[in-house]
Amino acid sequence: MAAATVLGAGVRLATAVLLAAGVLWGAAASAVRSDALALLMVAPPEVAQGAAFRIEVAVAERARVRATAGDRALLLYRTATGFRGFAGTDPTTPPGKLAVRVRVELRGRELSLVRTVRVRPARFAIRYLRVPPELLDPRLAAYERRRVLAATSAPLPRPLWEGPFRLPVGGPVASPYGVRSVYNGQARGHHLGVDIRAAAGTPVQAAHDGVVVLAERLPLGGNTVIVDHGAGVFTSYVHLQSLAVSVGARLRQGQVVGSVGSTGLSTAPHLHWAVRVNGVLVDPLQWIRGGLVSGP
Ligand SMILES: [Zn+2]
Repeated sequence: MAAATVLGAGVRLATAVLLAAGVLWGAAASAVRSDALALLMVAPPEVAQGAAFRIEVAVAERARVRATAGDRALLLYRTATGFRGFAGTDPTTPPGKLAVRVRVELRGRELSLVRTVRVRPARFAIRYLRVPPELLDPRLAAYERRRVLAATSAPLPRPLWEGPFRLPVGGPVASPYGVRSVYNGQARGHHLGVDIRAAAGTPVQAAHDGVVVLAERLPLGGNTVIVDHGAGVFTSYVHLQSLAVSVGARLRQGQVVGSVGSTGLSTAPHLHWAVRVNGVLVDPLQWIRGGLVSGP
């Protein structure tokens, strides 16, 4: 078969994929063409700090891909038309252009695709809390970070979820994502989850299908459950009174993982709920609205 024929087939398939993606994503989608054989799409093309976005690579034939957003590696999984993955931003992501780079290995060649996402600055309030001073020992935070990194270092490659995530517990948002926390007069960075107020003992439900990768008492998080949903997406359930699951358990959406409490660095019963996307703690509320990031 002549190379031109293969290329022609590639162009037709890639064009069909792009058209289909355009129909699905509407005006929010944008695409770049580096070669007729591979297309990179990122949606939405503009996000506020804290939002996640979706990456789609259309390839006309079997290929291998490696992807990054900024300096973070992204996990992409195979779809019928190529690869898909998710990336996150947080309050420390610099506003401006964030480069998404995908290297596609195809027929012994390596293609390089680049697309930028525009990151808009978001405004975050400040909250002041008084906590027991011994909990501000940096060794506790370092220990906790190591435990969480170990638990989230080998994500399940494919998504176990389909459709929007669900709030793990009903109740008012006591502290939104992104607020800057000042503990006992010390600035402690941004709040990288959402606090939902609920009575102690209220059941906390898995936001979506997944596998438990951490279920233990941490110094700051208190009783904590982390669920791997696949494709680099994890949810965390923090300050629980009790744990109802153990590591390795396969969960369905809505299954009880524990109960609301005030363990660890917490001043009153609430659930701290966090969503981690390829290592970045994003605004969890985006994931319950459906749309681009939580579609099938
Ligand atoms: Zn919190």
